[in-house]
Amino acid sequence: MICQYSGLCQNCDEKVIITILEGKLLESCQNCGGRPFNLKVYKGLVYVVDNPKQMGLKIGMSEKTVEQRIKALNSTGVVGSFKPIVTFPSDNPKKDEKKIHDKLAKFNISKEHFNLDSVEAALKCYRILNRRKPIFYNKNIEKEFWEQIEKDRQEIQRCLKGKSENPYAV
Ligand SMILES: [Zn+2]
Repeated sequence: MICQYSGLCQNCDEKVIITILEGKLLESCQNCGGRPFNLKVYKGLVYVVDNPKQMGLKIGMSEKTVEQRIKALNSTGVVGSFKPIVTFPSDNPKKDEKKIHDKLAKFNISKEHFNLDSVEAALKCYRILNRRKPIFYNKNIEKEFWEQIEKDRQEIQRCLKGKSENPYAV
């Protein structure tokens, strides 16, 4: 994929236009000659997808995009069609997928299918991957997800406050 970045250089704040090919910056800043920004390219991703005609959710990994993965899944002659729920970028998608499958073993229905709803699955994967930034494909699920994160955060704070008599205790 070829992209173009137009924006400010991180070193000198000048406007730059930089071409990016397959995740590599093809130019330096025309003003300062430095690297205008850092770009991280992940090896792949872990995905949660849903097919309303199938039990539970499917959790897997891909070294391509989730759209390409879904296209492949949908072309295998399954009933219904898969839709993306959430993805997590990954530098080691196989390892991350295994970690998630292992931790969610008690919810496993068959192969890569897990008996979880969308928000539950997103929350569990998020925690298993140490709060890696999720990418959502549905506004309502995203909203519910962050509301639950905020609720949990407040609950933890309440517990911490209740426990510490000493106001300086962490
Ligand atoms: Zn610059």
